[in-house]
Amino acid sequence: MSDMIKTTGLTKLYGTQKAVDQLNMTVKQGQIYGFLGQNGAGKTTTIRMLLGLIRPSSGSIEMFGERLSSRKKEILRRVGSIVEFSGFYENLTAAENLEINARLMGVPKKTAVDDALELVGLHREPRKQVGHYSLGMKQRLGIARAILHHPELLLLDEPTNGLDPIGIKEIRRMIGSLARERQMTILISSHILSEVEQLADRVGILHQGKLLEEVSLQELRTRSRKYLELQVSSDNKAAMLLETHFGIEDYEVHSDGVLRLYSHLDESGKLNRMLVEHGVEVMRLALSEDRLEDYFARLIGGGTIG
Ligand code: ATP
Repeated sequence: MSDMIKTTGLTKLYGTQKAVDQLNMTVKQGQIYGFLGQNGAGKTTTIRMLLGLIRPSSGSIEMFGERLSSRKKEILRRVGSIVEFSGFYENLTAAENLEINARLMGVPKKTAVDDALELVGLHREPRKQVGHYSLGMKQRLGIARAILHHPELLLLDEPTNGLDPIGIKEIRRMIGSLARERQMTILISSHILSEVEQLADRVGILHQGKLLEEVSLQELRTRSRKYLELQVSSDNKAAMLLETHFGIEDYEVHSDGVLRLYSHLDESGKLNRMLVEHGVEVMRLALSEDRLEDYFARLIGGGTIG
């Protein structure tokens, strides 16, 4: 699989602030790449650099194996994107809007517009004006515009922002089918892990401008830790007893008397008995697994994504 995007030491400074800091990121052909990070992590800045909208302070970008700085025009012809939501003519239909874009981009109008609208599922209401579209429909129309010229690479900045769960699901399904049916490579940024979890093949985790990790979803899942979760009448007392009787140190105290133990996973019976014998009531005891969100929260040092 060849590299569709490869950045080396990519950095963007705003004044003294490093919005993007020495980013080495690789997106391979055919991948759906989830670009994850909290608000302000530097996702939009990175995508804007990839689109040649802003200039890196240092470092380099290669797309399709060529340097963006030296072949910008040719490269960007092969890329589609939605970055900031930019307006459509509200009093025109979706097709009329796209026809204007197609003309500007120099792509054959009719087939490209019909194709794109069908792919995003907006072909069923040909007469509806865009002003009467829901936010989700407008987002889909934005994606239709981004794929009008059959790009090989699609960069989507927070395409599900502001959408309700049904809208999110629709966009997700659509992105999946673009990748499968059109063999597009897709980079999708998000601050919500669960939005890309079911879609992405690989994720890059950005935090304060730095890429903390670039890893396949498969690999990520194997890393989520298992633990025993106990709900008890007194977490302080339970913690003290677990430490003194079993030498347990790898645990966390959560709110409402909930403890998570990361060791002694197969000794739940013994632990339970000991706690009860010492007057601690155990309301719940179950083997559980970190949600991926917890993994990220740990990775970025206590904060949360999403
Ligand atoms: P969000 O999801 O909120 O858009 P993001 O991950 O896309 O977040 P960026 O928009 O890339 O993050 O912003 C990264 C950092 O750079 C932020 O601290 C932001 O305030 C700063 N920043 C972005 N654009 C500019 C600018 N034009 N001038 C100064 N600082 C900027």
